[in-house]
Amino acid sequence: MLESFLGPRRMYQIRRLVRHGKLTVLCLVMTVVVLRGTIGAGKFGTPEQDFDNLRVHFYASRNHHRPNRVLEEARSESSSEGSGEHAAETGSNSYETFDMSKILVDEGEEEKRDPNKPYTLGPKISDWDEQRAGWLRKNPDFPSFIRPNKPRVLLVTGSSPKPCENPVGDHYLLKAIKNKIDYCRLHGIEVFYNMALLDAEMAGFWAKLPLIRKLLLSHPEVEFLWWMDSDAMFTDMAFELPWERYKDVNLVMHGWNEMVYDQKNWIGLNTGSFLLRNTQWALDLLDTLAPMGPKGKIREEAGKLLTRELKDRPVFEADDQSAMVYILATQREKWGDKVYLESAYYLHGYWGILVDRYEEMIENYHPGLGDHRWPLVTHFVGCKPCGKFGDYPVERCLKQMDRAFNFGDNQILQMYGFSHKSLASRKVKRVRNETGNPLEVKDELGLLHPAFKAARTSSS
Ligand code: UDP
Ligand code: MN
Repeated sequence: MLESFLGPRRMYQIRRLVRHGKLTVLCLVMTVVVLRGTIGAGKFGTPEQDFDNLRVHFYASRNHHRPNRVLEEARSESSSEGSGEHAAETGSNSYETFDMSKILVDEGEEEKRDPNKPYTLGPKISDWDEQRAGWLRKNPDFPSFIRPNKPRVLLVTGSSPKPCENPVGDHYLLKAIKNKIDYCRLHGIEVFYNMALLDAEMAGFWAKLPLIRKLLLSHPEVEFLWWMDSDAMFTDMAFELPWERYKDVNLVMHGWNEMVYDQKNWIGLNTGSFLLRNTQWALDLLDTLAPMGPKGKIREEAGKLLTRELKDRPVFEADDQSAMVYILATQREKWGDKVYLESAYYLHGYWGILVDRYEEMIENYHPGLGDHRWPLVTHFVGCKPCGKFGDYPVERCLKQMDRAFNFGDNQILQMYGFSHKSLASRKVKRVRNETGNPLEVKDELGLLHPAFKAARTSSS
């Protein structure tokens, strides 16, 4: 089950080759030959794309860009179905040269309204004050329903203080935060969005450390801090975390014990979405990870250690995820009993194995499951929508991010009687006609408002 086929692994080898070759023009030319000879034909197709990919990784290695650090389980076979992904597979990985209009097209015609009828917003309602008062009488606990017997949680995410390389990246950051706001509103979770680099030495994927520490110390009322990458989206709006399961642990990450503790595999867990309890233990863990973070020589040297000690890790500077695996694997007796590596649902879910299956999920399942049937989180590891280059074709990433967003957003829109026309479409259609008695829509709120539903079933 855990066949860890690590995505563009051969690209790492190429990248390594480029780095060791001191980045000379000669090396570049030779590498083009090597690349085309070894992986070009199979993986990318045309020579132009081979060059694009080389260029991406050439620059990437210079910029100490992190390789794709996720477990790719058996890749979906049906990648060309449903999403038109196959055609996009051949595109460039560069955001600088990407033409946004490719993504901003939309299909379908507007429905025509009879121009002779006066426009109305909906059925005439004249007794809203009475309807509302009646509802409030029947639901007196509504404002306090939010988290019965649940810990106080602060979801923390953020992005660079600079605009994205391609403005379209900022649009996807907006979608990603809208998506998180929706989930958190439904589940009574507070949100903190950070755009400040608190410590210049801890730039990039290490920036979360000083931030998390500051937030834990400034918010003693918070029990759990939930870090979530900007490129991760909620795709199950109804799934509530199994808090009871975590009552004795301080850190929850998606991952597998064997991969972390036995294999020391650098992708045995993912640090793109995790829960950290506000404790001395958490501060101590942050202090243990932090010395590998300062950019420059320290981070480079720590990277060498991590590559040497961890399974399958490519050569690149130290990253927080590898450091976490290393600390847990080498100091298990110190931390292990307070760490829960969760694999029963997708606290983090790698997009590559999920996005082509959304239609199948809609066909067969329903929100609230959180696992492979209806993943809680879809994380676009390696896409880098705000950066210069990603590990995957830009068009594929952005189209799939739209699909993930719309998949999650449909669960929100349905509460209001709407739905996206398709997972690819930003346009919406009506799925329920309005009546003059909106509060009598049978259990609409209870069905789609998970916390409300939980509160009602536990109190009845
Ligand atoms: N990030 C940030 N400030 C920055 C760069 C990154 O807060 O200047 C955060 C952002 O939320 C991002 C996360 O760090 O999602 C980790 O980076 P990324 O998601 O690109 O890494 P990947 O998941 O692809 O390995
Ligand atoms: Mn990420």
